Amino acid sequence: MARLTLDNVTKVFDDDGEQIVAVDDVDIDIEDGEFLVLVGPSGCGKSTTLRMIAGLEDVTTGELRIDGEVVNDVPATKRNIAMVFQSYALYPHMTVRGNMAFGLEESTDLPDHEIRQRVEEAADLLGIPELLDRKPDELSGGQQQRVALGRAIVRDPEVFLMDEPLANLDAKLRAEMRTELQQLQHDLGVTTVYVTHNQVEAMTMADRVAILDEGVLQQCATPLECYHEPNNLFVAGFIGEPSMNFFEVTREGTTLVADHFEYELSEATLADLGETNDLTLGIRPEDVELKSAVDGDHDYHALVDVVEPKGDENVVHLAFEGAPAAQSALFTAVIDGMRSVDADQRLVAGFPESAIHLFDRATGEALHNRELSAADAPSL
Ligand code: ATP
Repeated sequence: MARLTLDNVTKVFDDDGEQIVAVDDVDIDIEDGEFLVLVGPSGCGKSTTLRMIAGLEDVTTGELRIDGEVVNDVPATKRNIAMVFQSYALYPHMTVRGNMAFGLEESTDLPDHEIRQRVEEAADLLGIPELLDRKPDELSGGQQQRVALGRAIVRDPEVFLMDEPLANLDAKLRAEMRTELQQLQHDLGVTTVYVTHNQVEAMTMADRVAILDEGVLQQCATPLECYHEPNNLFVAGFIGEPSMNFFEVTREGTTLVADHFEYELSEATLADLGETNDLTLGIRPEDVELKSAVDGDHDYHALVDVVEPKGDENVVHLAFEGAPAAQSALFTAVIDGMRSVDADQRLVAGFPESAIHLFDRATGEALHNRELSAADAPSL
């Protein structure tokens, strides 16, 4: 187990003379035993970051430390790190036992009986002891993924690195393996860096999520902090499905003026905005209140466009009433699945001030995040 530190880590690739900054000055301090998920859109630098930690890619500038010791120049084989990839990369001619033992046989002097014991313990932990004598082509995708995990576990590493390890599994198995992996990581207590572009995986598995965009770290915080207190517009839009609604607004005195509505702000919210007038207002779909009549300052007449029933909830796509069919007039609400709403229905949408976020439109920086009170998060 280990603490892993990325200190101003940058990676620049030279692509036929063109400099590509894949990872740009990233600072992350990963605690001993922590489960950190690196997430972001394709090409944001997740895999490159992981590969630098593994020692498969040089660090251009900055320091990478394991338990305080700089490892920039330590070769991959000497880092005591185990990696699990999306492709299981099992040797087809070897049994499960052979696949799990192979790395240990090649890279350690452990006696055979110790290797056998480690393999059998890992197989027990993963619930696959009956598969030890099978070959990979006799296993399902989920079983193959367990073997790949087992191969990492037997090495008893200080750090696990996982690059989209569940991406090849179907949705149901993926959800099951998510929970299993999380439990396993918790039981083993091994510091883990897990890469995914799937924000549900990031939210459900991570102790902390590190969100990258174009190589730049946007936020590194708990999933709920990223969700409720995003640093900027990028994080606000990336985390959450359906995405946060955004409206371009201009402050005029104490009022925000948008294309299709006006929004009066309280003194407390105004105080967060400083001198900034060009703003983006954000509100999460589940915070939009659908009702039959106007009963407050922040209620607007709207027309239902499409309803997507999901069983437990309905995703309702709406437009401000009387607005032209423009993108700026559209927004989404999520309501309980038992409430019925129909396409073309006229209703009122409320944007409670306690739930809005305001971003500086020029920089994307969050100037005001939603209120979070104990009442918003009742404990059981
Ligand atoms: P994905 O989710 O698609 O795997 P990613 O977030 O893991 O993406 P990286 O693979 O780390 O992204 O790539 C980050 C950037 O660095 C991309 O612009 C990519 O094209 C570039 N890149 C990666 N490897 C190299 C390389 N060997 N040479 C040149 N550019 C590279």
